[in-house]
Amino acid sequence: MNTIKTTCPYCGVGCGIEATVEDSAAHRLTIKGDANHPANFGKLCSKGATLGDTVSLENRLLYPQIRGQRVDWDSALNHVAERFTKIIEQHGPEAVAFYVSGQLLTEDYYVANKLMKGFIGTANIDTNSRLCMSSAVVGYKRAFGADTVPCNYEDLEQAELILLVGSNAAWCHPIAFQRIRKAKENNPNLKIVVIDPRATASCDIADLHLPVKPGMDALLFNGILAYLQQNGRINQPYIDMHTEGFELALNEAVKTAGSIAQVAAGCGLSSEAVGTLFDWFASTENTVTVYSQGINQSSSGSDKCNAIINCHLATARIGKPGMGPFSFTGQPNAMGGREVGGLANTLAAHMDLENPEHVDRVGRFWGSDKVADKQGLKAVAMFDAIAAGQIKAVWIMATNPVVSMPDADKVKRALQQCELVVVSDCIANTDTAELAHVLLPATGWSEKDGTVTNLERRISRQRPLFPASGAAKHDWWIISQVGQRMGFKDAFNYQSSAEIFREHAQLSAFENDAEHQVRDFNLSAFTGIDRQGFDALQPVQWPVTTEQTTGTARMFADGRYFTANRKARFIPITPRPPVNAPDADYPFTLNTGRLRDQWHTMTRTGLAAKLNAHRPEPFVEMHPIDADKLGLNAHTLAQVQSRWGNMLARVELNPGQQIGSLFVPMHWTGQISSHGRMGAVVNPVVDPHSGQPESKQTPVKIKAWPAQ
Ligand code: SF4
Repeated sequence: MNTIKTTCPYCGVGCGIEATVEDSAAHRLTIKGDANHPANFGKLCSKGATLGDTVSLENRLLYPQIRGQRVDWDSALNHVAERFTKIIEQHGPEAVAFYVSGQLLTEDYYVANKLMKGFIGTANIDTNSRLCMSSAVVGYKRAFGADTVPCNYEDLEQAELILLVGSNAAWCHPIAFQRIRKAKENNPNLKIVVIDPRATASCDIADLHLPVKPGMDALLFNGILAYLQQNGRINQPYIDMHTEGFELALNEAVKTAGSIAQVAAGCGLSSEAVGTLFDWFASTENTVTVYSQGINQSSSGSDKCNAIINCHLATARIGKPGMGPFSFTGQPNAMGGREVGGLANTLAAHMDLENPEHVDRVGRFWGSDKVADKQGLKAVAMFDAIAAGQIKAVWIMATNPVVSMPDADKVKRALQQCELVVVSDCIANTDTAELAHVLLPATGWSEKDGTVTNLERRISRQRPLFPASGAAKHDWWIISQVGQRMGFKDAFNYQSSAEIFREHAQLSAFENDAEHQVRDFNLSAFTGIDRQGFDALQPVQWPVTTEQTTGTARMFADGRYFTANRKARFIPITPRPPVNAPDADYPFTLNTGRLRDQWHTMTRTGLAAKLNAHRPEPFVEMHPIDADKLGLNAHTLAQVQSRWGNMLARVELNPGQQIGSLFVPMHWTGQISSHGRMGAVVNPVVDPHSGQPESKQTPVKIKAWPAQ
């Protein structure tokens, strides 16, 4: 038996796994946590622990297909390359797009971005991470000059106050949450505050739960900033030396949230609860603010992130043990995608599309004069452009937008009338794969070979446990083959993921010196890495430089940021409510989120009987008072309807749900429950800076189904 160290493919915590292959032919594994991995020290949650139940060939896409007919790889790859080339010749590069995923490994992501942004010449490549963390990226870039997460998991253990804002970490980042729980057991002085409209499982360890009015978090953090100033709790020397823009941000905070009563009224909270939060924040040096989808998935998500960061900059609580603003992102490799420019508004190695020097640098490194120099279409706009016929060919990699995108019925219609839809995936029968003209079988988690980066910037290896199934190929290979067949032979002549990782590291260090610009993202320690070194790679936090080969646990310890003048920026924040407010026709606010035991659209976790037992069918949580008013009971089948679409779900009564607010989980697909697609209901409103959809605030109505 062969035991291999690899990384969990589900959430952004990035737990290390020891997988023992018991029977390769039968795809039989035993799984346990890697006791030496710094993310989890041997622990696994229910999803990670049942990975062995999800690696069978059931539901696998095993052979290339064109319009439902099995074909060989040459035919499939030639077809995709020829069709893309022809459409680009006829309509220009803006007529094609890639929609990729935080499930891809960094090497896959790198090659996809290189092909689209570097050689096709458009930035029309976006990722499902847009739905998860793009507001956090904007927040970091605006404040720090770069997309850089300052903290690590040890900070959670060294904190005296942890705010969980819009984060049900107990279910969505379970092992990180277990570390917080353990820290609380070890340190009775550690206070936990949960700021969330719902009373979630994370409240189990909370000293204070603030059921904030949906969408009003920025008001709360503006209130903290004003309170800090009013009570002499700001760190003026740090503000003067290491930041800029404090006065403007403070003025806006005082104007909008200058008193506890004003904040309490705006947030729908008691003055007492708000006062307690403000007092704890003001008086506790070691404070970590964890924020997640409840902050990011909002039409003002970027502003909410900066309202949080403002409070940490004002108190100099950043770059030191036990403190900092800490975004928890959802996907296993959302961070890796960010490193290689996986978003339509970023370029590889954390460089910018709209910076001519960066475009020139990347162009010289890749040997291409076609590097895109303006932003591409972000996810929602990309599917709108497909619906409008402006994008005529789309290649969707390892994701299921027909289920997960907002206004998902529109996304479905867009793909139904698109000239060319290519889907590469390891799963055969997703709602999206059903609409593909070309299906390309990709290797799955147990076969892939490369790296992922978790939410604390830690790069870990995913290693193959089994040989590829059927005719499946690695994503980087499939993309490279299409690139070569489109005429870019030398640039995509890769033989291994190790070679791609080395090139990615070389680009991160290319002209990264004082003469040019000091950049946050630097892997100069790996610019000469060979296959052996890649195979032996230990989990490590970037930057990993020749001077600091063991990585960087914490950023900004020296108070120097990545802006031109090396100062962090305060951003003045004017709190805004959600764009679409409930009204007489749609009186409830629909909140959406994850369950403890399922992952995304259930294509893999749905295979594990143990996980399905947690919640077997789509449900909608509502407050008993609301249910009573509408004559709905627990277990009533109900239709949840918005102006965009509808879904069916079983009513569950939950007094932890705010009156006037509903909650549905995101996981069910049309394949599993024909009317259970949450995405069909969600409004497609986006944050103007990040393009992240407002997935947690859609006005809806609910009624028994069928009507009684
Ligand atoms: Fe996997 Fe996340 Fe669970 Fe860790 S916490 S085992 S990374 S799903």
